[in-house]
Amino acid sequence: MIGMLLSSVETRLANSYLFDYIVNNSFCVFLYHDVTDNASRFCEAHKLSVPTAQFAEQVQIIGRYFKFITPKDVFQRSVPLQSALITFDDGLAGCFENGLHILDQRNTPSIVFMNMEPLDGPVFWSGMVDYLLQEDELFQKASIESRQHSSQTTSTMNCDSILDCHPAQLDHYLQRRDREDVFAKAREYYGPFATREHLAEAEKSKFSFIGNHLFNHFNAAILSDSQLTDAYLQNNQALSTYRNHLNMFSYPFGQPDSCYNKRTHRTLRSLGAEILFSALPAINFTRNDVFYYRIAMNDAITSDEDFRYLLIDSFLRFRYRILKNRFIWAKKEASNFISGRSKHPY
Ligand SMILES: [Zn+2]
Repeated sequence: MIGMLLSSVETRLANSYLFDYIVNNSFCVFLYHDVTDNASRFCEAHKLSVPTAQFAEQVQIIGRYFKFITPKDVFQRSVPLQSALITFDDGLAGCFENGLHILDQRNTPSIVFMNMEPLDGPVFWSGMVDYLLQEDELFQKASIESRQHSSQTTSTMNCDSILDCHPAQLDHYLQRRDREDVFAKAREYYGPFATREHLAEAEKSKFSFIGNHLFNHFNAAILSDSQLTDAYLQNNQALSTYRNHLNMFSYPFGQPDSCYNKRTHRTLRSLGAEILFSALPAINFTRNDVFYYRIAMNDAITSDEDFRYLLIDSFLRFRYRILKNRFIWAKKEASNFISGRSKHPY
């Protein structure tokens, strides 16, 4: 009931002055992963793929409300009002074969935040972990057993969620498995990754840029400073051989607290990352900044009305999140104050 009410309010707002205000005063960054008519099971499971014709329509819809800018404008802190940037994460083959091809035809700039390790053969980390979590019975069994015995052992495999799974833990687990067999099944699950040929082709276009998404798709927030540094620099080394590389970074998984924090921001900025991107869906009202939110696009956006609704929804959810965080902070402060007073009444 409340959901229906909210949805009706959001639909009204999508056609209101609020929508116009958002468009006129913002810089919106849109996030894509794959663009293909043959979505992998991985992309299907997480709504990471948009069919090719639909992608072209979505770009047209965005262009009706915003002026597309290039990643260089963002890099050079020259972002105008009412502007939009198209971004892709990971480096799946469809993004290059279909997405960049369409953008090139329309003279529309974009940036692909790449994991360079899978490009040369090694398995794509998040695709593999998700395969194990979703489809591999032996892994699921090992995870349950590890939980049951967690009080008796110090080497618990904490891989219930993809965000908590540390590369070292998974490596330890894979020592007991036929690695090549797991890798082959994982590759089939997440679908084709980009190749060096794709990158060489993109390098020729004046509209395509590439940025850093770590060497493989590890969660930055659970890596130590030195592990994060290695993952960033290794990737940058591979990226910097291409002329269209910009020192900009998008966080793998991209959610606040669980995937990034002040420490990761500090480390990455000290390594030369000029601009950082989150995957929390929100509208950016600040421009010429070093950190931006991004709105994920998916195959549910088929019309102007869907798009307007998406923007209003992103705006309201983010405002609600700020209010909730302020309330939690105030509650914590109040409880500290009360407990402080009770311990030291005078
Ligand atoms: Zn990613």
